[in-house]
Amino acid sequence: MSNRIYNFSAGPATLPEAVLQKAADEMLNYKESGMSVMEMSHRSQEFMDIIGSAEKSLRGLMNIPNNYKVLFLQGGASLQFLMVPMNLLNDSKKADYINTGAWSKKAIAEVKKLGDVNVVADSSDKTFSYIPEINPGQIRKDSSYLHITSNNTIYGTRFPELPATNLPIVTDMSSMILSEPIDVAKYGIIYAGAQKNIGPSGVTVVIVREDLTGNVANLPSMLDYKTYADNGSLFNTPPTYAIYIAKLVFEHLESIGGVETIHKINKQKAKMVYEAIDNSRLFKAHVQNTRDRSIMNIPFFAESDEINKKFIAEADDAGLKTLKGHRSVGGMRASIYNAMPIEGCEKLVEFIKDFDKVNS
Ligand code: PMP
Repeated sequence: MSNRIYNFSAGPATLPEAVLQKAADEMLNYKESGMSVMEMSHRSQEFMDIIGSAEKSLRGLMNIPNNYKVLFLQGGASLQFLMVPMNLLNDSKKADYINTGAWSKKAIAEVKKLGDVNVVADSSDKTFSYIPEINPGQIRKDSSYLHITSNNTIYGTRFPELPATNLPIVTDMSSMILSEPIDVAKYGIIYAGAQKNIGPSGVTVVIVREDLTGNVANLPSMLDYKTYADNGSLFNTPPTYAIYIAKLVFEHLESIGGVETIHKINKQKAKMVYEAIDNSRLFKAHVQNTRDRSIMNIPFFAESDEINKKFIAEADDAGLKTLKGHRSVGGMRASIYNAMPIEGCEKLVEFIKDFDKVNS
């Protein structure tokens, strides 16, 4: 569609146009029900089919083993910063965390309210521009779990490999879920806010190994994974429309070949953007170590703030929107999630090259 721009927002982020079109087509009358999905009871057969199908697709796309529950919750990834320790801390009340940026820090701040946290490794000394070396000896054996942030949306880093530990690994995958194949069985819990690779904000996906639920007595019902696991995420009214869009996004991903296919495309997109930045005279990527580079979020900047401002303004005029970097890093950030078309990255690359030529 000619009036759509390329939206490089970190989230809420661009969605596949085919999904938006389908939602538009079904907006007033979903499958001859005479209603919008928004207007439907969450207990209706139509909606039960939607949530069932969303779970089935996600299980297929991510190869989720049967001993994992898939939950559709509210409260964003931020509520998981609290729900994880509430549900997982055992009697020793110990948890280990790796601090790779602002979202890890927020997760750590929440667990501190409930237990004893050990920060195993931290990359704050260089504005979180790398994934720190992890010494397995620093991970406490009697902790309940080890928490990581797989992809750091603000700083553009991604864990190249999982830390070696026997503890259940809990990960915040908000900004990389479904972007590359992962082995779910290596994790205790994977959680992700939807508004990057899944759908609109309002729903949070939690994939939890069954034996990690129901171990803490007397949790408030709404904060207990077991409540949702026992009720198919329908203990109370779930974010029905967001779940419906997530279902459409999952079906769209299936139709284009699934996670392996999108991973190839994602790598290709990231490669071209990093190359344009690395080969420019003006710009530098925030993450220099190629091993730790995210293929979803690419922060970059010029030395001069004036140049950064000019770049953002001129890119905006050229239909390349929301490229302003996070305030803690400055400069620019290109978020190129699954739904960012290759053409969007090609346009950005062309723009970087032209801007570099004219302004350096
Ligand atoms: N974790 C990560 C990695 C994120 O990128 C974000 C949001 N951008 C959050 C957590 C917070 O998510 P929410 O706003 O859904 O609580």
